Amino acid sequence: MKLTYLSAILLLASPFVQANGLDLNLSKTMPAIEKFYLDLHQSPELSYHEQETGNKIADKLTQLGFKVTSNVGGFGVVGIYKNGEGPTVMIRTDTDGLPIIEQTGKSYASKVKVIDEHGAKVGVMHGCGHDIHMSSFIGTAEQLIVHKNQWKGTLMMVAQPAEEVGGGAKAMLSEGLFSKYAKPDHIIALHVSASVPAGKVSMKNEYTMASVDSVDITIEGKGGHGAYPHTTIDPVVIAARTVLALQTITSRELSPLEPSVITVGSIHGGSKHNVISDEVKLQLTLRSYNPNVRSAQIAAIKRITAGIAQSAGLNESNYPVVYVHEDESIPSTYNNPAQTDIVRNSIASAIGDTNVLETQAVMAGEDFGLYGRTDENIPITLFWLGGVNQAQYADSIKTGEVLPSLHSSKFAPDYKVAIPTGIKAMSNAAVALFNK
Ligand SMILES: [Zn+2]
Ligand SMILES: [Zn+2]
Repeated sequence: MKLTYLSAILLLASPFVQANGLDLNLSKTMPAIEKFYLDLHQSPELSYHEQETGNKIADKLTQLGFKVTSNVGGFGVVGIYKNGEGPTVMIRTDTDGLPIIEQTGKSYASKVKVIDEHGAKVGVMHGCGHDIHMSSFIGTAEQLIVHKNQWKGTLMMVAQPAEEVGGGAKAMLSEGLFSKYAKPDHIIALHVSASVPAGKVSMKNEYTMASVDSVDITIEGKGGHGAYPHTTIDPVVIAARTVLALQTITSRELSPLEPSVITVGSIHGGSKHNVISDEVKLQLTLRSYNPNVRSAQIAAIKRITAGIAQSAGLNESNYPVVYVHEDESIPSTYNNPAQTDIVRNSIASAIGDTNVLETQAVMAGEDFGLYGRTDENIPITLFWLGGVNQAQYADSIKTGEVLPSLHSSKFAPDYKVAIPTGIKAMSNAAVALFNK
């Protein structure tokens, strides 16, 4: 009783906070937003090619009264709207599509085909739902302007390119995102979910997505005739030992309480049955949450590969070369608990407690995590926006049929429910952070 009384007083005392969040009437604006979504969906662009997409976002933000800068870190767009004294809240969307031929069978499916950097003709699809993100983003910007009497501060809308290749956040930050435009006090983003029903959101405090590293290992041997193995040092055998030994890093060296994935996704060596080759190449992906685990993974990979090469009789100068693609490295996404609590509560008050789910962390990565790892140390929150059609979701529970995942050619989010939910969730989260 005491608490209820206290919160009632707080509600009365604040001119901005509403018991049920912003009073959004989206029925008028949804037709235009849906049109925007269908246009984006039918004209996806690959990472580093999001020029038209960036222009469309820039136009919308300009129409809404934002001060807009285009071509930030590639085809990134920054929109700033100053609305009096107060904190700066940054909302981020990503803008790129994927090289996938859409097979959803929808009337509005993408038919776009382009020539990729290898000269191959590829289909392009918003297979990760970044078109849902952009539509929610523009809808949110619009609602926050319509309801600007309910918050004070600076609204910073950031449309980031090249998420799928882990390059966009890095490029926008290195072009001075936080120094040239505004330094946010809070940063929020959403990602559509292929496992949560539309109309709901889910989130978790602390680590929510993993760090991602790509590692190449080149194992040198001494090639020769397949019939005279004693005159060679066979890199295929060294590679086989190495692949197995790498499995012991997660299982034997790291704490079972610290998540870690080391996957050898590619192995290439040799050309013929009876030739022992000179080298074998491995390609690995590493995942973890804790930065210390990442360092330990990389150190162990270097030690194990060198040790196996030594045991095979190679000189130190011929030990395997371990190359970590630092330029593509993405840190884990850490949801600041205090901020994420505010986001969760504000969304619950807008769409209902039962529509806000707790979720588990995933080993997939997002370069959104980078915004929380700069010297400015800004709290970030990424939440999942349900994308699965509710009837389809109920069916999949009944039949056990696996739903198409993100990056699937069959992923078709229920945009008519997901986008308005995204707008309500994001607008309310932003207002709660402005009025904190
Ligand atoms: Zn993706
Ligand atoms: Zn994505």
